[in-house]
Amino acid sequence: MTGSVAIVGLGPGAEDLITPEVQQALADATDVIGYIPYVARVADRPGLTKHASDNRVELDRSRHALELAMAGARVVVVSSGDPGVFAMAAAVFEAVEAGPAPWRELDIRVLPGITAMLAAAARAGAPLGHDFCAINLSDNLKPWEVIEKRLRLAAEADFAMAFYNPRSKSRPEGFAKTLTLLNAVCGDDRPVIFARAVSTPDEEIRVVPLPDCTPDMADMRTVVLVGSSQTRIIARAGAPIVYTPRSAP
Ligand code: SAH
Repeated sequence: MTGSVAIVGLGPGAEDLITPEVQQALADATDVIGYIPYVARVADRPGLTKHASDNRVELDRSRHALELAMAGARVVVVSSGDPGVFAMAAAVFEAVEAGPAPWRELDIRVLPGITAMLAAAARAGAPLGHDFCAINLSDNLKPWEVIEKRLRLAAEADFAMAFYNPRSKSRPEGFAKTLTLLNAVCGDDRPVIFARAVSTPDEEIRVVPLPDCTPDMADMRTVVLVGSSQTRIIARAGAPIVYTPRSAP
């Protein structure tokens, strides 16, 4: 029996935002591997073994998945959102590159999912309608100096921005520094969207002018979208529409 590894995205939370392709991979799996809360999102059924592990053990988890597949298992590695966005797909390939040669011959597929920034953008309107970039604000795997440089250059280049992991546990002051830097570089009141737990029962969307943002508005379940200088707000009775026009002046 030949095994396989599917590295899949479970989307931002809602069941109907999981693609049919990912649902099929889960239905065919013998083993599901991932971070505890994501594995918990997969329903139990006979014939399925769940392997849930804690955060920050991505490489061990990847090697485990590859070893199970070598032994014939149909393994699904789960991430939230998209598996290629600050998630397990890159971790599995790091393990493959550093691992034994036979791992390279395994059937390994990446099945995309809806990443948090796109789910959040859709709720707010179209804030990422022109050029944008995504930055992981966690300094777990890169020095803060690198984050700061990327933030400054992205703001100077007038990208709209999406921030993942806005509040790192190891350095909670990171997001405060981010706001200080953005206020200094941007120098105007562009809209910031705090999208928390999008597509779950805890969902909360707030649109706040940059100068009024405070660090406590974000937590680890929030993705933060910052508009460019061109981002517009359409005021109306309900929640405002935030969008970035397709053209730059
Ligand atoms: N692979 C995931 C990202 C993992 S990093 C994806 O593509 O979405 C974890 C970060 O993603 C969180 O700190 C938060 O910034 C963001 N995130 C994940 N799910 C979210 C949701 N439902 N609502 C808002 N932000 C979310």
